[in-house]
Amino acid sequence: MPEPGAGRDAAPQDSLRRPILIAERDYSVSASIGISHYPEHGDQPEVLQQHADTAMYHAKFNGKNGFQVFTREINAQLRERVELMGDLRQALDREEFRLEYQPQVLADGELVCFEALLRWDHPTQGLISPARFIPIAEETGLVVPIGKWVLEQACHQLAVWRGAGYENLRMAVNVSTLQFERQDWVQTISDVLQASGLPPSALELELTETVVMKNCKHATERLGQLRELGISTAIDDFGTGYSSLSYISRLPVHSLKIDRSFIHGMTDDPDKTSIVSSIISLGHALRMEVVAEGVETEAQSQLLRLLRCDQIQGYLVSRPLPGEAMETWLKSIEGSGAGNSPRQVS
Ligand code: C2E
Ligand code: MG
Ligand code: MG
Repeated sequence: MPEPGAGRDAAPQDSLRRPILIAERDYSVSASIGISHYPEHGDQPEVLQQHADTAMYHAKFNGKNGFQVFTREINAQLRERVELMGDLRQALDREEFRLEYQPQVLADGELVCFEALLRWDHPTQGLISPARFIPIAEETGLVVPIGKWVLEQACHQLAVWRGAGYENLRMAVNVSTLQFERQDWVQTISDVLQASGLPPSALELELTETVVMKNCKHATERLGQLRELGISTAIDDFGTGYSSLSYISRLPVHSLKIDRSFIHGMTDDPDKTSIVSSIISLGHALRMEVVAEGVETEAQSQLLRLLRCDQIQGYLVSRPLPGEAMETWLKSIEGSGAGNSPRQVS
């Protein structure tokens, strides 16, 4: 018997994975398997079944096509997730979401874009990280209405800032798999843009490698539609997924955002510097702009400038801030064109 949680590419799936020939076509199925043991996990059939079910949901949540043996910890985790799911369903109506904005600046410090980042102020648990609740929102389909709300808020905020004199500012919004796959998604974006009065060029959509690699043909079509509309797209967290380089080279994408794990510690690690340098060269060879995420120190910023990285984003420039605090930050940088400190775009 394999170890608990050792879930992928192991024996239980092997026989299921074999293709089945039906009417001269091969079909293959994948399975998420939950396992419970008698008598450690229960001495009644219903209890054993319930725990095997819990283990199966855990296997599904962790990427499907795996197996999981029941443990007390996963039982507690599932209970917590179910509670969070219930709360998430009401969070939009209860106005518990808000956005923060983080600047992206050119190598010379010029402010060009903000990234909108979602925050959930949970009534009892306080601030919950998007890394924790976005996967649940994705699983339940709630990411679709939540994502639309994000788009509307971010576009509205940008329209206000542009109206206040920051005319060339742009806004980047993160997009999840489920949104990207929906038939009506491009139409939704057009409608939101129109309602806000923004030109399509003011918006940038960020998709992770996983999202674009999931269904290559569909992704190419979708990104092409966005490009035709004049909306830019970026591949987020670049370097952490499993991109096929030949496929990336054919994608109508405008920029690559280098994941912050490569930026962190890069000034002391020649291997990381080489990776960052290679991603920048790759992006430029494919006529894409390259943005470095998670830039925290002046030394990282200087090295990135030396490597000809086009833009930087990170705590060095500013942490993500709510709209009002960002307005104060915008005023504080007004007119400062000196050195590499951020300056406004106009
Ligand atoms: P992301 O899109 O890659 O966003 C960048 C993350 O890095 C943000 O985390 C930001 O707060 C953090 N960050 C920025 N600069 C630094 C830095 O210098 N150092 C460090 N250590 N961190 C930095 P956050 O806000 O927790 O968001 C996490 C992820 O959640 C995002 O990663 C994005 O994938 C997802 N997310 C956030 N908002 C949304 C949304 O509205 N929709 C969707 N689908 N996903 C979202
Ligand atoms: Mg992002
Ligand atoms: Mg990222």
